[in-house]
This record gives sequence, structure tokens and C-alpha cells, in this order.
Amino acid sequence: MSAGAAATAAYVVAALLTVMSLAGLSKHETARAGVAYGIAGMAVALVATVVMVAESIPAGAVALLAVAMVVGGGIGLWRARVVEMTGMPELIALLHSFVGLAAVLVGWNGYLEVEALGPAQTTVAPELLGIHSVEVGIGVFIGAVTFTGSIVAYGKLSGRMKSRPLTLPGKNALNLGALVAFAALTVGFTVAPSLGLMIAITAVALALGWHLVASIGGGDMPVVVSMLNSYSGWAAAASGFLLDNTLLIVTGALVGSSGAYLSYVMCQAMNRSFLSVIAGGFGVESGTSASTVEGEHREVSADDVAAMLTDASSVVIVPGYGMAVAQAQYPVADLTRRLQERGVEVRFGIHPVAGRLPGHMNVLLAEAKVPYDIVLEMDEINDDLASTSVVLVIGANDTVNPAAMDDPASPIAGMPVLRVWEAKDVVVFKRSMAVGYAGVQNPLFFRENTSMIFGDARVRVEDIIKAI
Ligand code: NDP
Repeated sequence: MSAGAAATAAYVVAALLTVMSLAGLSKHETARAGVAYGIAGMAVALVATVVMVAESIPAGAVALLAVAMVVGGGIGLWRARVVEMTGMPELIALLHSFVGLAAVLVGWNGYLEVEALGPAQTTVAPELLGIHSVEVGIGVFIGAVTFTGSIVAYGKLSGRMKSRPLTLPGKNALNLGALVAFAALTVGFTVAPSLGLMIAITAVALALGWHLVASIGGGDMPVVVSMLNSYSGWAAAASGFLLDNTLLIVTGALVGSSGAYLSYVMCQAMNRSFLSVIAGGFGVESGTSASTVEGEHREVSADDVAAMLTDASSVVIVPGYGMAVAQAQYPVADLTRRLQERGVEVRFGIHPVAGRLPGHMNVLLAEAKVPYDIVLEMDEINDDLASTSVVLVIGANDTVNPAAMDDPASPIAGMPVLRVWEAKDVVVFKRSMAVGYAGVQNPLFFRENTSMIFGDARVRVEDIIKAI
């Protein structure tokens, strides 16, 4: 079998492994296997590509390729090993930006190898030249939007940039104008390719990506993260067309469409229309009207909470971003076991956008070996909250905010939330009365059946375990 045929066969295997990986990742029980399939698929694809490419390039270039892979792989391993769970969302946003940048470079390379040489010198058949130019334009555009959009998402998620939305005058007109300009420039580039048009397409796309994500407010970031995930897939698929690499097209399309579906699920979870999020309308008032809610709150000690829990017949734990910050999942898992030993029914209620990453809470709880069957989705647990003795809200805020249901003027109005206030008693673990990610104050903290326990969630849960 020739190297080319072997590589094609390897590509089919890698594509199947990618499909199996996505299928595996869709359930807790099979997620680990899904990750393993993904790693295997990538490894097969990488080896096959290098073997195939090595046939047609000089030995010096193969050596450079090997050095690049070792350095890149080394940095990737190092970053992945040291990253904290709370830093995962921004790391993923940064990785999306690399896919975007790679697509831009592939597009530019395509231009320099074909269009820049002129029809007389390129090896591309004249009747295919137009298609090639369209591919270059679209590839560079998707790549550049993904690149700057992901950098802004990285800035917002890591706190290096304010999560408040940027509100330029006529922002929708600006976005629409950029799309129209891109279409016109790409048509121009296809008719008569030039360096000036290439630069213009890249510049418009870079600016659009930056503006799109900058104008989206804190509360809508989950949709942005999954949207950029999808864009990175389409950027890879666009590169696949340019490089004539079927595996890149298949895997890019899989990532692109699964990311698009995830965005749809996130929009449903937040009761938003995808288009309105992209246009960046929601979250504009963050930190204004609703952040002024005031009232008396009640503070309790670890001993009080321990007494409440030992008297309870059922407990629901609602974790949020603060549990990730405090790394409180281990003592929380320990508390769960101890309460179960005393005959208390303990379950978890997970909001679809809790934390900073789709599935963030599920990963943390799985890490601490909390059994999957007591970890329920919001819709599965919401109706049971009214008959629950105690709800422990551990570092969650926006996802348990009654203003989303009661206050039409709230920036998070309409977002489905966990109705924790329906329980007999609610205990909220946080360090202060500060607002959540969407910048909105939470009237839950001032309800009669709510008590606050201040301090780092990990330390507080450990105190409760000692008291029990
Ligand atoms: P929030 O971000 O609304 O609130 C987290 C709370 O945790 C804060 O009120 C904070 O209060 C508290 N906290 C922080 N550190 C600690 C600590 N060490 N110990 C105890 N408490 C702590 O969390 P939710 O999970 O409820 O909501 C997620 C938000 O993030 C939503 O607005 C969602 O839209 C957004 N988002 C979600 C993404 C996703 O994909 N899941 C992606 C991007 C954004 P204090 O400072 O007083 O301690």
C-alpha cells in the first residue's frame, strides 16, 4: 500500500474516532472514553499527515516540522498540566484563537501560492481559480473573526477585560456593514485578486470578531464561548478545503456543527434567541437597575448549618462558579457521604450555565467522585425544590436569582433559574454580598428563608463537616 493510500485509510479511522469522541462526550458515564477516542483520533491524524507531507518536502523541512511539533506539544502539555479548573474557560478561548489564526495563515498561504503568482504561473487550473479565491476569502474571514473574538473572550473570562458590553453607537449597523463589506470584497477578490483586497478582508474580519464579542455582556458569555467553539470548527473546515484535506473538512464540520448545537442548547437554557445574543443586545444594563436591590440579610454559623442539615430529610446542593474557585467539590462530596450515612437524601441541581464552561460543575463533581445518579439537571430537580428541607447554594449566584423570573427590567430577565427559594430553608455560601458574573444583585439573599454563610466555600464546608 502506498503512503498516500495508508494516510487516506488513517484519515477514515481518525474521522470515525472523532465521531465516537463526540458521542462519548455527550454522557457522564462515557465522557472519559470520549476523551480517549479524541486523543487517539488526533494522534492518528497527526502521524498520517506528517508521514504524507514528509514524502513531498525536503528533509530540512521535515526536521523543522518535528521541532515545531515537539515545541508546540511541549507547551500544550505544560499549560494543560498547570491550568487550574477555574482557568479552563479562558484556556479554551485562547486555544480557539489559535485555530482562527491557523485558518488565517492557511488562507494567506493559499493566496501567496496561487493568486499572488497570477494565472500564468499557478498550477491551479484556470477554471478552478475563482473557487480557490472564494475559499481563501471565506477561510481568512472565518479565521480572523474567530481569532480576535476568542482573544476578547479570553480577556473577559480571565478578568483582564471588563465583562460589561461595549456599546458603540449603531453597533448592529456596524456588524451588518462589516458583513456586507466582506461579501463585496470577496466578490472583488474573486474577480481580480490583489494584495490590497486580501488585507482589507483580513482587517474587516479582525475588527468584526473583536466588536462582536466585545459588545456581548457578561451574562451571555456562555453562548459566546460555544459560538466561538463552533466558529473554530468552521475555520478548520475552511482550511481543509484550501489544503485539500478531507479529514480537516470532516472534523472541522463536526466541531462546527456540534458547537452550533451547543450554542442552541445554551440559548435555550438562557431563554435567548441566538441572533439577539450575537447582535449583543442583552446584558447592556448589567450593574445598573437590579444591582441596587437592598434589604436585611441573615448570617448563620457553620454550627447552625450543621444542625439544619442533620435535622433535614432532603438536601439539594446547587453549586456555581464559587465552588470551582474555592475547589470546594472535595469537602462537598465528603459532606454528601456523611449526610447520606445519616439517612438524609442528598441530590445536586445543576444549572446549564453554572460556572464558566458548559458542564463545568459536572466535571468538578465527577472529579470528587460524586455518583452521577444524584447529579440532576435543572429541569429534573426544579419541581422537587418546594418539597426540599434545605438547599445549599455553594458559590452560585446568577443561576439562582429570582429577579430573572420576577423583574422584567433585570438584565437576566427570562433566563430560567433554579427556584431554590421554594425550599424550606436556603443557605448561601459566598465571601461577601458581591454580585455574580452578570453584575446583577440577587434578591434571594434578602428572602426570609435564606441565610448567608460568609467565607471561602471550601473552608466553610469543612467547618460544617467538623460540626456534624
Ligand atoms: P456567578 O458567577 O453568578 O457567581 C459566583 C459566586 O461565587 C459569586 O457570587 C461569588 O461571590 C462566589 N464566590 C467566588 N469565589 C468564592 C469562594 N472562594 N468561596 C465562596 N464563594 C465564592 O455563578 P453562577 O455559577 O451562578 O453563574 C454563572 C454565570 O457565569 C452566569 O452569569 C453565566 O451566564 C456566566 N457564564 C457561564 C459560562 C458557562 O458556560 N457556564 C461561560 C461564561 C459565563 P463572592 O465574591 O461574594 O464570594
